[in-house]
Amino acid sequence: MNQEQRRDFFSRLKLLNPKPTTELEYHSPFELLIAVILSAQATDKSVNLATRKLYKVANTPKEFYALGIAELSTFIKTIGLFNAKAKNIIATCKLLLEHHGGEVPRTREALEALPGVGRKTANVILNTAFGEPTIAVDTHIFRVSNRTGLAPGSTVLQVEKKLLKAVPKEYALDAHHWLILHGRYVCKARKPDCAHCVLIDLCHYKRKLKQTEKAVALFPATKQNTKSHSTGKTQKHHG
Ligand code: SF4
Repeated sequence: MNQEQRRDFFSRLKLLNPKPTTELEYHSPFELLIAVILSAQATDKSVNLATRKLYKVANTPKEFYALGIAELSTFIKTIGLFNAKAKNIIATCKLLLEHHGGEVPRTREALEALPGVGRKTANVILNTAFGEPTIAVDTHIFRVSNRTGLAPGSTVLQVEKKLLKAVPKEYALDAHHWLILHGRYVCKARKPDCAHCVLIDLCHYKRKLKQTEKAVALFPATKQNTKSHSTGKTQKHHG
């Protein structure tokens, strides 16, 4: 994909959703940090259900630390790996209070030093809470980057580094959310909805051709046609 195509790629996503943002609910960098820690291997919906109640009781490092692991666990027990997450969150709050004046730090190094915070979480915080043009490569972004040919790579870090070079500057801040939302709702893991995708002519994904052919088929599919699609063999038509 060349620079012009990449610009086209993001201009279309922007047209569909001019102000993309996270689906996690939060009102401060600290609330976002906790929500992102909780969202590892869990849906945003399940995290929002838990944090809506939790943040009414506690929404600062001091209040969380006062809650303690056992009490915090009762609010997040519907979320996968909640025991480990509760321990990490309380340890993180302790560090925030002791070393950062109760504030969420703004550097990658300090963020990654917090328990339960890896590169991906740090990138989300830097991007969404502090407006840095970072990209946190999750399963959706990894898939979209590879399928489309925007930033193919075999590891998360490789894809992240390629994306940082590939995304045109004017789209760098919001690229993270456009790619996640596109992967979550259109370019889905099992059944990418290529027939309704605005990126179809820019995308390199080979299987999309089959879906497009189906979508625009002039003739109803016959058993014979279906077979020829699935095997990829050419078929001779007589008469
Ligand atoms: S055309 Fe298909 S594979 Fe390509 S980005 Fe769109 S949904 Fe994904």
